[in-house]
Amino acid sequence: DKSQSYISTPFPRRHSVAVDVGGVTVGGQAPVVVQSMTNTDTADADSTVAQVAALARAGSELVRITVDRDEAAAAVPHIKERLQRIGVDVPLVGDFHYIGHKLLADHPACAEALDKYRINPGNVGFKSKKDKQFSQIIEMAMKHDKPVRIGVNWGSLDQELLTHLMDENHSNGAPLTAQQVMREAICQSGLLSAKRAEELGLGRDKIILSAKVSQVQDLIAVYADLAQRCDYALHLGLTEAGMGTKGIVASSASMGILLQQGIGDTIRISLTPEPGGDRTREVQVSQELLQTMGFRSFIPIVAACPGCGRTTSTVFQELAQDIQNHIRESMPAWREQYPGVEELNVAVMGCIVNGPGESKHADIGISLPGTGETPAAPVFVDGEKTVTLRGPNIANEFKAMVLDYIEK
Ligand code: SF4
Repeated sequence: DKSQSYISTPFPRRHSVAVDVGGVTVGGQAPVVVQSMTNTDTADADSTVAQVAALARAGSELVRITVDRDEAAAAVPHIKERLQRIGVDVPLVGDFHYIGHKLLADHPACAEALDKYRINPGNVGFKSKKDKQFSQIIEMAMKHDKPVRIGVNWGSLDQELLTHLMDENHSNGAPLTAQQVMREAICQSGLLSAKRAEELGLGRDKIILSAKVSQVQDLIAVYADLAQRCDYALHLGLTEAGMGTKGIVASSASMGILLQQGIGDTIRISLTPEPGGDRTREVQVSQELLQTMGFRSFIPIVAACPGCGRTTSTVFQELAQDIQNHIRESMPAWREQYPGVEELNVAVMGCIVNGPGESKHADIGISLPGTGETPAAPVFVDGEKTVTLRGPNIANEFKAMVLDYIEK
């Protein structure tokens, strides 16, 4: 059946139980939530406040912070308060490993200030000897009425569970490959811990699952399996995605396929930052992934042709970049000022071959003259040619027209 062999349109979203995270809904049929994580020392409240604010202003709808020791836990309520004072009320997620149970018990103000707790079942999970610690974190979540994310990571997978499944597979004549057993262990680690959390009294509407691996095919297989075996809200993310284009491509390839199948309620694209690089890049990439796939709109899109031998001038690339930068900088204000502005499509094209056609399909578009063409740039608004710009000021005049269009 051809319609089943090819995923030509997105599948309906998988049913998942909605979870409220500090006022942001994850799951149910809520739009896929963009989230990110700081890389500051949480005990350094100044740096953490600045980075959380930057991530939130870039569009991160949830921000996770590391809570790894007493000093970090003590700083959390101050960070929350300072963020609120500067008008940033993004929900904060605490990332806990090993001693999360102790930190939450010893720092009730931290437990209260956080909007969700991330638990790694590899180091405080059910089926491990540390089950008591897992139970304590769940009890803290119930006491403070907070949701949790049970976040499996194959780099810290519950070894006891993996060994048990390997032995079981071996005694059954090894019908599964080692890779399949590893995938099963990842799924089971999350599912068993979630089941245990429910047994302890945590509601299904307080549980989000994630199962991060670093290989694209493993990620797709693990989440496709999880999606069938439970209805918990799912947090998608490729771990150790890598630097630069590699991280972007691997994350987009894996998450794009899952999202197209209706799987995933929140995403985080974890990019290894370049030294001194901008942490907000991962938020931008997450937004662009969701927007280019047609799931959400965050910011007007500027379509530009790649350029070729028909245009030796760089005017159109500079104009496209200039407009995209201007839009990105203006968006925090525009979002309130001009509702719906994020749906806008702008086209900046390099010559007559595809320029007029593409520009007609945009809300506003310009076709700049290629090499040897008449130095005239027709502008199209809502599919109609309105004016032809000429002379050295084409870029500025078109930019003004875009701003005028947005205002109108
Ligand atoms: Fe080349 Fe013109 Fe196509 Fe741009 S629109 S890539 S300049 S042929």
